[in-house]
Amino acid sequence: MAQGGAPGGAIELRAVTKRYGRERVVDAVSTTIRAGEFFSLLGPSGSGKTTTLMMIAGFAEVDEGGIFVDGVDVAAEPPQRRGFGMVFQNYAIFPHLNVFENVAFALRARRTPEAELRQRVQAALELVRLERFADRFARQLSGGQQQRVAIARAIVYHPPVVLMDEPLGALDKNLRYQMQVEIRQIQQRLGMTVVYVTHDQEEAMNMSDRLAIMNNGRIEQVGEPARIYEDPANEFVARFLGEANLLPGTVERTGSSQGTLRLPSGAALTARLPAAAALAAGAAASLFVRPERVLLQQPSAVAAPGDGLWNVLPGRVRRSSFLGNILRHDVELAPGLSMTVDQQNLGGVQPPSAGDTVRLAWRVEDAVLLGA
Ligand code: ADP
Repeated sequence: MAQGGAPGGAIELRAVTKRYGRERVVDAVSTTIRAGEFFSLLGPSGSGKTTTLMMIAGFAEVDEGGIFVDGVDVAAEPPQRRGFGMVFQNYAIFPHLNVFENVAFALRARRTPEAELRQRVQAALELVRLERFADRFARQLSGGQQQRVAIARAIVYHPPVVLMDEPLGALDKNLRYQMQVEIRQIQQRLGMTVVYVTHDQEEAMNMSDRLAIMNNGRIEQVGEPARIYEDPANEFVARFLGEANLLPGTVERTGSSQGTLRLPSGAALTARLPAAAALAAGAAASLFVRPERVLLQQPSAVAAPGDGLWNVLPGRVRRSSFLGNILRHDVELAPGLSMTVDQQNLGGVQPPSAGDTVRLAWRVEDAVLLGA
């Protein structure tokens, strides 16, 4: 059972639209964010993430559509009346107040009795592991500590909803990862709803119960991270979340759950059909498969390991990159067509050399046909 979290915090966006000039920077976005859920808006720069968050917060007006919190339309509510906690990239902690008073700020504004205020601030500082820093000022804190103050300040009055916009954007990679884990743990302990904006794919996958992939003011796909990673709805999502191979061709036939794609080279490949898409024979489509699902074999190999159906194509290694934990190979299938293949750096593996002829193999169940 989550401790202390205010009940509620379900958010529904109904065809929410924001226009700047003639451009619809958020274009009829509809989605439901469940109470107690960690929900991320993920997308490239300019896709409308921050504008969506600002409309939920009440700092940006909704031009069309509506935002409902626990079923209540919040259009008329100014930001402070919505009662959401907020954390932004530039920590925005008050330089003239020490850590304790920064965290106490919202409670003082609410005229919280002193004993309760002290208890709540103490509990919030313990959650972000800053209880020994209560007397410090911003200039005496590292970036990570300042961001912890901002988080403590946002959660101290137990808001049902906390909105976060790239809160870890200014931190270095190792600290970012550590803070991702901490924020997620705090969210789970308090049971609050978090709406989190980021352009960092790994961050969104690591933290979120579900995420929405945004592009050009629209949501392309909503779902659990692993589900979106394995089953992207379209080429944009496939490319945006992780590395993707997309081999273009023509749909030859489709069955109930699988389809066959003919490449321009004449090769026929089989893949799963996505649940929602209607792909007919003759349609242009691409076969999608992740680089880590493709095996690099000797050209003389005759079988692929284990059960199931495999796709097999010959290729030639153009280049191999050493990335530490993986070796990434660029393998040419035909002029102008190549695949990326990732090999775990397990030790003792003899990597191929540039120019080597190889055999690529991947399971049918690891590949999806995506409409062009
Ligand atoms: P993201 O958070 O995904 O990077 P934003 O929501 O910040 O995207 O911006 C979406 C689009 O809206 C961008 O093209 C941006 O230039 C535009 N935009 C954002 N705020 C304003 C504004 N106040 N006036 C005009 N255009 C804006």
